[in-house]
Amino acid sequence: MTYHANEKGYYGQFGGAFIPEMLYPNTEELRQNYIRIMEEPSFIKEFQALLKDYVGRPTPLYFANRLSEKYKTKIYLKREDLCHTGAHKVNNTIGQILMAKRLGKTRIIAETGAGQHGVATATVCALMGIECVVYMGEIDIARQAPNVARMKMLGAEVRSALSGSRTLKDATNEAIRDWINNPVNTHYIIGSVVGPHPYPDMVARFQSVISKEIQSQLLEKEGTSNPDYVVACVGGGSNAAGTYYHYLDNNDVGIIAVEAAGKGIHSGESAATSALGKVGIIHGSKTLLMQTQDGQITEPYSISAGLDYPGVGPMHAHLYTSGRGEFISVTDDEAMAAGLLVSQLEGIIPAIETSHAFAIFDHRKFEQDDIVVINLSGRGDKDLQTYIEYFKL
Ligand SMILES: *Cc1c(COP(=O)(O)O)cnc(C)c1O
Repeated sequence: MTYHANEKGYYGQFGGAFIPEMLYPNTEELRQNYIRIMEEPSFIKEFQALLKDYVGRPTPLYFANRLSEKYKTKIYLKREDLCHTGAHKVNNTIGQILMAKRLGKTRIIAETGAGQHGVATATVCALMGIECVVYMGEIDIARQAPNVARMKMLGAEVRSALSGSRTLKDATNEAIRDWINNPVNTHYIIGSVVGPHPYPDMVARFQSVISKEIQSQLLEKEGTSNPDYVVACVGGGSNAAGTYYHYLDNNDVGIIAVEAAGKGIHSGESAATSALGKVGIIHGSKTLLMQTQDGQITEPYSISAGLDYPGVGPMHAHLYTSGRGEFISVTDDEAMAAGLLVSQLEGIIPAIETSHAFAIFDHRKFEQDDIVVINLSGRGDKDLQTYIEYFKL
C-alpha cells in the first residue's frame, strides 16, 4: 500500500489525466521526461544550488517555545515563510523553470488567483530571462493590485481572463487554451499539486524538499526523524504535499490537513473541499470537488485567497477517503484569531492560509510529549490589509 502516485498518476481512484485530445502532446512530452530529467545529476545540482543560494534553503525548523507552552505539546515550525518571495511556492517554480529549459521551451505561461503563484513564476522567469505570460481573472486583477504590480515589475505580462466568474478557474481555462495553441515553445507552470498527470506528482516531488529537510533537522534536534504529526493547510495542496511527502508511507507519523471552512462548512460560503466535495473532474484531474447536484463547479469562498479553490489535489482526496489523513476545517474567524496569537506569542506574522493550520490547537488535543511540525507556508505581509480591516488595527 502506497500513498504515492502510480505510473499513470493515480492516487487510489484519484488523479489521472482527463484532458482534451489537443492537449495530449503537451502533457505526454512532460510525462515521458519528467522523472528522467529530475534524476539527472546536472539537474539535481542546479536545482539544489538555486534552492540554497537564491531561495535561501534549508529553511529553519524552529521550536516554538511559547506556543508549545500554551498548548502543552511540542510544536515545531518549518519556516517556508523565509523563502525568497515569502512562501513555499518558489520551490516548485524553480523546479519547473529548470524542467522547461531542459525541454527546450522558450516561453512560460501560468495561472494565478491571488497572484502569489504568478509572482513566484514571474520571479523565476526574470531569473532565467524567459518570456512570461500570467493569466488572471479580471476580478482578481482588481482585488490583488500589489501582486499585479510585482509581476509587471518582474517583466511578466498579465493577461486578464474575462469569462465566467473572472477568477482563478477562468484564468486556468485561458492558460490551458494558450497552451493548446502554443504546444511547441511553451511550458505551463501549474502552481499546486493539481491538474493532469504528471503535474500533481511533479509538483509534489519539487516540494518534497520540505519533508526531506524536516527529517534531518528533527533528527538533529530530537534524535528522531519522525514527528508524531505533520500539519499543513490545504488549498490545492502543494505545501501540504511537500510537508507529508517523505512520511506518506510511514504510519508512525500522523498526517493532518487543514481546510478553509470560510464562514462555516454549511454556510454556503466555504472552501472545505473534503467535507463538501464529491468525486468529479477539474482541470484534468479526478478528485474531490465542490459541485452542484448537476455537476457544475461551486464558487468557493475563504478569507484566504490561497485556500479559495473548489477542488483539492488527488493526493489529498486519497488521503482523505482512505483515512490516512485527518482533515480539519477551520473558519475565517478561527484562522484570524490563530494568526494574531502566533504573531504575539512568537513574533511571526503568518500568511492567512497558514493561520488556518495554527487554529487546529483549538480543535484537537495533543499529548505533552507529542512532536507536532506545522508547515509555516508563508509570511503575512501580503495579508496585512486583510488583518488591518479584520482587527481594525
Ligand atoms: C498559495 C498558498 C497556499 C495554498 O496553496 P497550496 O498549494 O495548498 O500550498 C498556502 N499558503 C501560502 C502562504 C500560499 O501562498
